[in-house]
Amino acid sequence: MAVQRIAILGSTGSIGESTLKVIAQYPKQFKVIALTAHGNYKRLAEQALQFKPKFVALSEEHIGDFKKLGIKGCQVLSTNSYEDLASHPEVDTVVLAIRGAAALAPFLAAVRAGKRVAPANKEALVIAGQLIMREARKHHATIIPVDSEQSAIFQCIDGQQSPIARVHLTASGGALRNVPAKNFDQMTVKDILRHPRWKMGPKITVDSATLMNKGFEVIEAQHLFNLSHDQIKVIIHPEAIIHSMVEFIDGSWLGQLAVTDMQLPIQYALTYPQRWPCNLPALNLAQLGQLTFAEPDVKKFPSLGLAYEAAKQQGTLPAVLNAANEEAVDAFLVGQVSFTHIYKVVEKITRKHKIIKNPSLKEVLEADKAARIYAKEAL
Ligand code: MG
Repeated sequence: MAVQRIAILGSTGSIGESTLKVIAQYPKQFKVIALTAHGNYKRLAEQALQFKPKFVALSEEHIGDFKKLGIKGCQVLSTNSYEDLASHPEVDTVVLAIRGAAALAPFLAAVRAGKRVAPANKEALVIAGQLIMREARKHHATIIPVDSEQSAIFQCIDGQQSPIARVHLTASGGALRNVPAKNFDQMTVKDILRHPRWKMGPKITVDSATLMNKGFEVIEAQHLFNLSHDQIKVIIHPEAIIHSMVEFIDGSWLGQLAVTDMQLPIQYALTYPQRWPCNLPALNLAQLGQLTFAEPDVKKFPSLGLAYEAAKQQGTLPAVLNAANEEAVDAFLVGQVSFTHIYKVVEKITRKHKIIKNPSLKEVLEADKAARIYAKEAL
């Protein structure tokens, strides 16, 4: 394999940091071309010193702070440069680790430039999955998902010639799996952010608690693997060892098992179609003793039902679902609303929305914008 040149959009977040851990293990095989951060200029500077990227980008207000640190050898750009970096001729692979709808434009730029894209962001696929996949096919871009469930499915179907009957997305169940629904309103931000299995950013940890994260993954899988919503099942698997499973038409199931560390799916996305050694602790099934499964409780976690409805209806509805949810989760994280308000606001906004079928990018972005305004009013 020739040296792979990588741009990491969102390098100071948890996925970005894990990506750099993978790269640090293989300094001869990977070259970092670009690193970007939103506001954490100090960490970005440390990363730039270690990995010597050609470009760094960060939000306008922190460019001055970054420059004062006197890091030599890299060009300092603003976050307006995401699309240029994602499609830059010196970049082979784009790791998309920025949160929210902001990932959409660089995602499209990367697929249109025929890059290998490793999306950890799910919002872009949720809101504009059809468009992204169409452009990716047209420009021969390769999308290798980093999300652990999608990576598992990708790994299970790689090389298979026969159609899939169903996929089974595993869900650890989030922070509220064993909390009765009647106590949900007393849940503080701190309670929710204590996720039992995965260490992740605050937004996605809240989405795990509501199961909206799993709902987004249903929509994501629909696009990535060209499935209909009723071919995608969710199963609670608290140990989070089986990262997802594929059921084939003959009744055989394949699953992917590994320790719960994002370094593994990230590394797979970078080394595909090869597998390279990864210095994580070995999986020890005997020590675990058992793997358990349960049906998700859609009454207790109504967000999952809302996401299935969006997967079924398509059009602009998934964008509205995502936008309303993002606003509601942000309001919860700053203590503005209680936990159950997240679902209530998202339900209200999605029910009200008039769906546009086969929307253009402009229509998707308009639906997103309108949903945020309505959500802010409702909050
Ligand atoms: Mg996931």
